[in-house]
Amino acid sequence: MPEVKATTRENPRPLRGRVAVVTGSTSGIGLGVAEALAAQGASIVLNGFGDQVQIEDIRKSLARTHDVATFYHGADLSQRDAVYEMMEYAAREAGEVDILVNNAGIQHVAPIEEFPLEKWDAILAINLSSAFHATRAALPAMKRRKYGRVINVASAHGLVGSPFKSAYVAAKHGVLGLTKVVALEGAEHGVTCNAICPGYVLTPLVERQIPDTAKARGISEEQVVRDVLLAAQATKQFVTTQQVGALAAFLASDAAAQITGAALPIDGGWTAH
Ligand code: NAD
Repeated sequence: MPEVKATTRENPRPLRGRVAVVTGSTSGIGLGVAEALAAQGASIVLNGFGDQVQIEDIRKSLARTHDVATFYHGADLSQRDAVYEMMEYAAREAGEVDILVNNAGIQHVAPIEEFPLEKWDAILAINLSSAFHATRAALPAMKRRKYGRVINVASAHGLVGSPFKSAYVAAKHGVLGLTKVVALEGAEHGVTCNAICPGYVLTPLVERQIPDTAKARGISEEQVVRDVLLAAQATKQFVTTQQVGALAAFLASDAAAQITGAALPIDGGWTAH
């Protein structure tokens, strides 16, 4: 009879030992993604604005709930140098970055003729340029270690336009272009890059634009939810942060190694029209 050796039960969590930076993860979708990656065992570097006590609570709760190391860097991603400082902090404190989720984003709703110039600059900087800078900082170690996952949280507005969202739609279409180029440059190095394109998710970002959209279109806030936000979303339901998180966790997994350069809608059928 061959000897049967006892094997130690390995931690089955597939992202154990991986380090993930999730930008804009103090709220909304980014927090949902951070939760999903932590649940799979990844160490998490949080980033974003907010009340420092609340952010510390989020950081500790994530660590406790999922038994992972968690970190926070408060870089303002509209500032180029701050993006590089955050990535250096992540590599130094958490370890070389395996998974980069470029999620931070802002929105402003106004007709082009009235679009504030500083909002155009800020949206392009945060929603598009910060993804370039963070990716540029992360790629060398990813390529050297033959594993990397760059996950860009774009939007259905990376695929289609809507009136009054010129900067956002331009930035998100730009993110899809960047995604393809990163995918091609990383392809032979074990690095994938994909864009998640959510429809409407009821987060603070969306809640804030309801009154502005009501004003821009001259309709009530209830009409904005029914006739604007969910008008094209065929399911007539908001996407949840958990659903976006689950998709990001899948993209980070080994099963997704051949998915790269893709723009993946998670939009209740919006872009099927
Ligand atoms: P949110 O406002 O809830 O969260 C945005 C996060 O980004 C926060 O953590 C905030 O602190 C952070 N942030 C904002 N400006 C920053 C800056 N200068 N530096 C660093 N962090 C900054 O928004 P959300 O809805 O969770 O959006 C997250 C991403 O998802 C954005 O890129 C957004 O465009 C995209 N998205 C959202 C929806 C939606 O319906 N909510 C749909 C499609 C795409």
